[in-house]
Amino acid sequence: MVRKVAISACLLGERCRYDGADNYAPSLLNMLEGDELIPFCPEDAAFGSPRPAMDLIETQRGVEALCNESGESRSEPIRRYAKAFFEQHGQIDLFIGKDRSPSCGVCSARLYDKEKTLLSDTAAGLMAEEAIARNIPAVDAEKFEGNQ
Ligand code: SF4
Repeated sequence: MVRKVAISACLLGERCRYDGADNYAPSLLNMLEGDELIPFCPEDAAFGSPRPAMDLIETQRGVEALCNESGESRSEPIRRYAKAFFEQHGQIDLFIGKDRSPSCGVCSARLYDKEKTLLSDTAAGLMAEEAIARNIPAVDAEKFEGNQ
């Protein structure tokens, strides 16, 4: 059966990271041969590449992605993109997110308080959070590779 796999676009070699680079992962892609890959990059769609980096911060409003340069919230466009992505693509069998990303990390994103003290390094990024909320099996790329 061909699986529908939503996957961080940077893992496919898209140069959509905050610094304009990619996270091309050929060995991971070999494991997905025969699957239908549906790439996503909420940050590139919302802010372009390159762009200022952001971090997940626990605020009074809950977890927010804040721009490291300006301190402004970047959460809303990312959450909107995530909802639209899953609504557009229907049933997804597997979500593979780039580990440690504040958008795509599944169990590996870093969460800080306002003083930038690390609260957790096993948080979900904002796009991964939406996948989890929809009960889509979700895994960090690093872990997926390690488990195969
Ligand atoms: S980790 Fe996610 S948001 Fe960051 S570049 Fe890759 S796809 Fe885009």
